[in-house]
Amino acid sequence: GSVMEKVLQRRSLRMRNMQRTWQESPEGRKMMEFRKSLPAFKEKDRLLQAIARNQVVVISGETGCGKTTQLPQYVLESEVESGRGAFCSIICTQPRRISAMAVSERVSVERGEPLGETVGYKVRLEGMKGKNTHLLFCTSGILLRRLLSDRNLTGITHVFVDEIHERGMNEDFLLIVLKDLLPRRRDLRLILMSATLNAELFSNYFGGAPTIHIPGFTYPVRAHFLEDVLEITGYKLTSFNQIDDYGQEKLWKTQKQLAPRKKKNQITALVEDALSKSSFEKYDSRVRDSLSCWNPDCIGFNLIEAVLCHICRKERPGAVLVFMTGWEDISCLRDQLKSHPLLGDPNRVFLLTCHGSMATSEQRQIFDRPPPNVRKIVLATNMAEASITINDIVFVVDCGKAKETTYDALNNTPCLLPSWVSKASARQRKGRAGRVQPGECYHLYPRCVYEAFAEYQLPELLRTPLNSLCLQIKSLQVASIGEFLSAALQPPETLAVQNAVEFLKMIGALDARENLTNLGKFLSVLPVDPKLGKMLIMGAIFRCFDPILTIVSALSVRDPFLLPQDKKDLAGTAKSRFSAKDYSDHMALVRAYEGWKDAEREGSAYEYCWRNFLSPQTLQAIHSLRKQFSFILKDAGLVDAETSTNNRLSHNQSLVRAIICSGLFPGISSVVHRETSMTFKTMDDGPVLLYATIPFPWLVFGEKMKVNTVFLRDSTGVSDSILILFGGAINVGVETGHLKMLDGYIDFFMDPNLAECYLKLKEELNKVIQK
Ligand code: ADP
Ligand code: MG
Repeated sequence: GSVMEKVLQRRSLRMRNMQRTWQESPEGRKMMEFRKSLPAFKEKDRLLQAIARNQVVVISGETGCGKTTQLPQYVLESEVESGRGAFCSIICTQPRRISAMAVSERVSVERGEPLGETVGYKVRLEGMKGKNTHLLFCTSGILLRRLLSDRNLTGITHVFVDEIHERGMNEDFLLIVLKDLLPRRRDLRLILMSATLNAELFSNYFGGAPTIHIPGFTYPVRAHFLEDVLEITGYKLTSFNQIDDYGQEKLWKTQKQLAPRKKKNQITALVEDALSKSSFEKYDSRVRDSLSCWNPDCIGFNLIEAVLCHICRKERPGAVLVFMTGWEDISCLRDQLKSHPLLGDPNRVFLLTCHGSMATSEQRQIFDRPPPNVRKIVLATNMAEASITINDIVFVVDCGKAKETTYDALNNTPCLLPSWVSKASARQRKGRAGRVQPGECYHLYPRCVYEAFAEYQLPELLRTPLNSLCLQIKSLQVASIGEFLSAALQPPETLAVQNAVEFLKMIGALDARENLTNLGKFLSVLPVDPKLGKMLIMGAIFRCFDPILTIVSALSVRDPFLLPQDKKDLAGTAKSRFSAKDYSDHMALVRAYEGWKDAEREGSAYEYCWRNFLSPQTLQAIHSLRKQFSFILKDAGLVDAETSTNNRLSHNQSLVRAIICSGLFPGISSVVHRETSMTFKTMDDGPVLLYATIPFPWLVFGEKMKVNTVFLRDSTGVSDSILILFGGAINVGVETGHLKMLDGYIDFFMDPNLAECYLKLKEELNKVIQK
């Protein structure tokens, strides 16, 4: 050990010299000055002391006070200064990849080093770190994966878990595992960081760990609710009629026709009530009539536009941050604003977006200050609420909604709905406006709606399906998933856990005794949803790797097909050109991608995308994810280096369909023909209307979502024989390289007449496999 010790000591000295050189250089001094101005700096010594004396410390403080960029850096600097730099290894987790990347870049700039030296990052399928990296920012998912392979976190000295107030599933999961680890690693330091003040909850969870609050300073922000906003902007509510509120008006109407019995949620009723009453009496009856048609679940783009115009024309200088529900809305609004005479004028408005899937170059721009007389407007998701701080914001426009997945354990259905945020979020959003001077916040909902918001948002663990999570828990060699999860801050329902275990058994990741199968072991290390992971493995084994690779990548990125508000019909037609023949959204993805590759070779990729309503950025993202998945599977030995052997059967449509089916099972519905229309029936739901007629008896689907009405996302028609052969727990004996097909789970759908056909087909397949 002493040789190693000497090497590390030498390296530590070098680190100290470098750090001092930087801090004494002119730029270094300037940077230190800025850093010293952050509220966290005043608490530096107290923080370092608390961390030295306690195994767990909980730290809270206003967003922007310097938790993420400063605290891990303080620890690093003090280790380096004391000549122990090379001996420490600090990990700081972030809930989102983009913040891990942005923050690591910022910290390396603050240290005057290139990224990937002392400071690095690691996110799913990407990273920048080297042998000299001692401070690593990663997603919480990455740290979890690391814990799966090394339960003691050997070599790690400090773990910071950031943004715990968000109560993300991975963070809650991490806390269970770390809590279990602490007694075995007495020297390990755990620091929890949170923006809002529910620090006590976490302190109690860790047996009364000390909490430190960093007092921050923010300027007062004036809140305006919808009532005031209408007054200020002079916006006439009649135009709510004209807007295609987030494009959901149609769905809303459909829902009214389909499910008139469905009770409106409480807040919706409240809004309608409020809008039809006193505060709006000053508007004429025509307006009030139109209000009753307004879908308060949606915020009109035109209203946002009106508020932005008001700010640009009448208000003092300062950047504007608009909180919206998701990437689709952001890009639609951006397109709308681009054609506005004032807001779309690049000499007057610097329009930017901020969301989880934006490119790194765009990321940097949101921190830049615009030239004088140009107003910066950032359209953002709730990512800008706490994890990213844009300094020059003076105005906030808050739509009051965020897209969150909720999970209905009873119906085993995830729902992705823009839903009202919590009071804590609304306050947080408002606070974003007061960082540099007094600010203004425009909430685009009535005050009474705010009053009805929940205090805090429900933890993610209680509102999402637990499939992936349970698989990971299993690979921790935990005997009982239920018991493990009962140690969570707020344990999920037993039913939700049961559903997940059933699902994992059904896809063959767990055996009957709930032990991980070979397939399960593979799936737990593949950085994708278990269903998609299984599809990839099956694609490789059945020699149709290329198309499946495209499908899985596309499903993990997002739909490359664009649906512009004003050209929905045209876009729909464009998309159907790709899928009409096959009745498969998945084959459409393959075709769109391959068409793009061909067009690229001919130098006409841009026109191709334009003509077909495809997003070049998304296609590019799919392309790079493809490469990464391909690399991982090669690395795991599932794909030969010579890919042609893996693609011998890529042109066999039925086989590709079959592999899609094997991955998406048990997401399957039967197609029931009626006289005039068709319906489909999923395993646990009643019939739902199907708009197209399809010549297949079954549909496999990626997701069943409740968005007003239950509908299927990304589906592919399949035949009886495909379902029988591939829809089930096909167990892949990966190690021995042979296939074993299991029966079972298909009884549900099985027509007795098909039994015979099934046996015959199975026999044939076995012959093929044995060859
Ligand atoms: P917290 O984690 O407490 O919310 P951060 O550590 O993320 O705060 O940020 C502290 C301060 O550092 C911010 O107020 C901002 O001024 C500055 N900052 C953070 N990231 C960047 C960046 N990429 N570019 C410029 N300044 C930044
Ligand atoms: Mg932070």
